[in-house]
Amino acid sequence: THDVHIIGGGLAGSEAAWQLARAGLRVKLSEMRGGGETTPAHQGDALAELVCSNSFRSDDAERNAVGLLHAEMRALDSLVIACADAHQVPAGSALAVDRDGFSAAVTQALEAEPNITIVRERVDALPDTGLAIIATGPLTAPGLAEGIANATGADALAFFDAIAPIVHAESIDMSVAWKQSRWDKAGPGGDGKDYINCPMDKAQYEAFHAALMAGEKAAFREWENVPYFDGCMPIEVMAERGLDTLRYGPMKGVGLDDPRTGRWPHACVQLRQDNASGTLWNMVGFQTKLKHGEQVRIFRTIPGLEHAEFARLGGLHRNTFIRSPVLLDGTLRLKARPNLRFAGQITGCEGYVESAAIGLLAGRFAAAELRGQASAPPPVETALGALLGHITGGADAETYQPMNVNFGLFPPIEGRTKKADRKLMYTARAREAFGAWQAALR
Ligand code: FAD
Repeated sequence: THDVHIIGGGLAGSEAAWQLARAGLRVKLSEMRGGGETTPAHQGDALAELVCSNSFRSDDAERNAVGLLHAEMRALDSLVIACADAHQVPAGSALAVDRDGFSAAVTQALEAEPNITIVRERVDALPDTGLAIIATGPLTAPGLAEGIANATGADALAFFDAIAPIVHAESIDMSVAWKQSRWDKAGPGGDGKDYINCPMDKAQYEAFHAALMAGEKAAFREWENVPYFDGCMPIEVMAERGLDTLRYGPMKGVGLDDPRTGRWPHACVQLRQDNASGTLWNMVGFQTKLKHGEQVRIFRTIPGLEHAEFARLGGLHRNTFIRSPVLLDGTLRLKARPNLRFAGQITGCEGYVESAAIGLLAGRFAAAELRGQASAPPPVETALGALLGHITGGADAETYQPMNVNFGLFPPIEGRTKKADRKLMYTARAREAFGAWQAALR
């Protein structure tokens, strides 16, 4: 017997399970991986697997909304952030992790928790009775996705999400490439040398651009004309926008001093450390829908990557999410069937941290409901509250698109101030509101 059934053991489901268990409630966590099933993006059976980048993005709680979200989650005993902190790898001011160490830690913590029963099974129908949290993510298995579409009465939406390739470090030619963070910027524990840089001169860049344009793409006819989500745009789609788009985007050369020339390169490909031992590096911003053979051929024209061995090639995947602003109430319950809560990317938040954050809230809301307490959602001035507000009502339901946490979701700060000061004002206001909210919870 259990108090809450959580479906999906990804970022959101794992965090929700932890929060409920810590509140003394019994959880059944159903995860289909490890039960003979998988998704098009997952590689293993661990809970909270990171399907693409190994970064939880900025850890700066003073000037960055996602950094602030990290801080608020830490204060609420987040399992995901605790495991990320414990398995951090150097990445400037970002919180990046050893992906295997991270997921193993989450899995072990949940397995060791007596209030949680993990069942490796695929669930094909929404539970009719009892409290449940649906956290099956952007790659929800088709049977359940159909059940969700029926229950919500609205079509689940789909859009492109793209994965960047990962390269074995030993195959990178370090006589051409070099280690340096842009502008030598050192993050906590870093030395200003966190990235591997592969420089291009003008001729190399233009040949590379032409190859991207001509490269054979995988066909995804069912998603033609679907808008790309910014930040996940495939490299070849960016190339189509103009000769210099990449050079001003992920292939910027500014702030990077090529030791062989003493100058900034015309363009530059950056790789970021992907695991603790530093054996794997991902190509930053190189998500792509080029065919696998074409990726190997074209990416090996990048100086320093002539002999690159790829641990994983890029890819393109479906992303399912519901029209939350009209479907969910303020505590993430499906209005039409309030025994069901939704959490994670399926609600239309975007990103590992955001998904875990919404899982954290769903778990806490369910715990409060079971104890007969009123759920007090976090104030809109906090990162958690701003994100929740966007999902459960703030956003326009018609144009609803997955969204990372950002200061644009917070109530505006009036008056004229410098942009840099404004960020500090947002986070100072958030800390005060969060502190008061947390004090009232006790
Ligand atoms: P998931 O972590 O996907 O967890 C859902 C879980 O539910 C999975 O373990 C799945 O196996 C399970 N499941 C699905 N259906 C069923 C079922 N019927 N029964 C039982 N179990 C089921 N975010 C970033 O911050 N950085 C990135 O680089 C990034 N890259 C992405 C790349 C791709 C291809 C995709 C699809 C998404 C990416 N995202 C990225 C977005 C998002 O952060 C991740 O998808 C994140 O994992 C979402 O967390 P979640 O808990 O909602 O879903």
